[in-house]
Amino acid sequence: MRNISRQDCAILDRRDPLAGFRDEFDIPAGMIYFDGNSLGPPPRAALIRAKEVLEKEWGEGLVKSWNTANWFQLPRTLGDKVAKIIGADQGEVLLTDSTSINLHKVLSAAVSLRPRRRVILMESGNFPTNNYIAQGLAAQLNRRLEIRFTDSVSIADAIDESVAVVCLTHVHYISGSILDMAAITAKTRQAGALSVWDLCHSAGVVPVDVNACKVDFAVGCTYKYLNGGPGSPAFLFVARRHNGRARQPLTGWWGHADPFAFERDYRPAHDVRQMLSGTQPILSMAVAEAGLDICLRADTTSVREKSRKLTGLFIDLIGERCSGFGFTLASPLDSARRGSHVSLEHDQAYGIVQALISRQVVGDFRAPSNIRLGFAPLFISYTDVWDAVERLLEVMKDGQWRRPNHAPPNTVT
Ligand SMILES: *Cc1c(COP(=O)(O)O)cnc(C)c1O
Repeated sequence: MRNISRQDCAILDRRDPLAGFRDEFDIPAGMIYFDGNSLGPPPRAALIRAKEVLEKEWGEGLVKSWNTANWFQLPRTLGDKVAKIIGADQGEVLLTDSTSINLHKVLSAAVSLRPRRRVILMESGNFPTNNYIAQGLAAQLNRRLEIRFTDSVSIADAIDESVAVVCLTHVHYISGSILDMAAITAKTRQAGALSVWDLCHSAGVVPVDVNACKVDFAVGCTYKYLNGGPGSPAFLFVARRHNGRARQPLTGWWGHADPFAFERDYRPAHDVRQMLSGTQPILSMAVAEAGLDICLRADTTSVREKSRKLTGLFIDLIGERCSGFGFTLASPLDSARRGSHVSLEHDQAYGIVQALISRQVVGDFRAPSNIRLGFAPLFISYTDVWDAVERLLEVMKDGQWRRPNHAPPNTVT
C-alpha cells in the first residue's frame, strides 16, 4: 500500500462535516494545538460572553443579576446542557465546584448508601486526584474503608460483594483506553455495589450514556474537550433514583431545601441540588456555557468518527515516517477502544515535547516518559496531523530535543 500524503489529508479535510467548527475557536495563528484534552481553547463566543457578564451583568446589574441574569440557577441550567451530552435526564446533573470536590461528594454519598460494605474499588493507574480523594475520604470516615486497587484488565473479576463502590475513569488519562462502561456497571449492579464514573476525558468527545448503562454517579470537568476555560466548574450526575437518599457531607446553604428561608438548621434539598455547597464562580460558569453550546451543536456520531480517524491517522503516520526513532505506542491500536488522545512512549519524551512546542506543535508530557497528544475533532484537521508529524520528524532528525534548554522541567507539564 502506498504511503499517506499531505494531499490525502487535504482531501479528508474537504470532506469533513465538522470543518466549520474550527473558526468558532480563537487559536493563535500557526499553532497546532494538541492539548484540547488538557485545556480546550477559548470559543470566540466565550470571549463575547465574558465581556457581557463582566460589564452588563456584574457591572450594571450588580446584585440584581442573581435574579435577572439567572445566576442562581446556572448550576441547574448548565447541568441540563451537560445532561444531554452524557445521556442523563434533565434535573440529574449540576455544574458546580471542581472534579476533585465533586468526586469527594459523590463518593461520600455512595459509600454511605452501602454502610455494611468496606471496599472502594479503583484502577491503580488512574488519574491520581481520584485516588487521593478516596484515600482522604477513607481517612476521614473512620469506618475501616479499604481502597482496593486493580489493573484495568482485572476490574470485572475484582468486583464482589465486599465492594461498596466501583469508582473508575472511563477514558484513561495517559493511554486513552476506554473501559467498557456498560459491562462494568452491569457487573457492579449484580454485586449490589454502586458505580461512580469519571468522565473527564470522555465528555464532549466519546459518546457516553450514563442512564442506558444505569450508572449511579458521575463527575467530569468542562475545561478539557468542553472548552469551558481554565478551572471552569465541573459537572456531577446523580441518578434520579437516589434523590432524597444520596447525601453529601459539605452541607452548605446552596444544598438546603430552601436556601433563602435562612433557617438555623440544615435540611437537605430532595433532588440533585443537595450536591451543591456554596456560592458558585459565576464568571467562570457563565463563560463555560459557550463551550457547552458548541458541543451540543456538533453531531455526536461525526465527532466520534473524526476522533477515531484523526488518532488513527496519527498512529499510521508515526508508523510510516518515524519508525527507528524509538517511539512506542502506549494507546490501544484498535480505535474502538481508544479515546481522543494518543500517547507515545520515548525515553526523551520531555525534551521532544518541548522541542515540538517551540515549533508550534503543542502537546504535553506525562511523567515518566509519555508524549500525549489530544485530537479534538472540532478544531484539529487531518492536515494538522500531517504537519505535526512532519515537525516531529524534523525534531528527531536534527536532535533538537537534546539541547539543554529543553531539559529543566516546568512546574505544570
Ligand atoms: C483532568 C482530570 C481531573 C481533574 O480534576 P480537578 O479537580 O479539575 O483538578 C480529575 N480526574 C481525571 C481522570 C482527570 O483527567
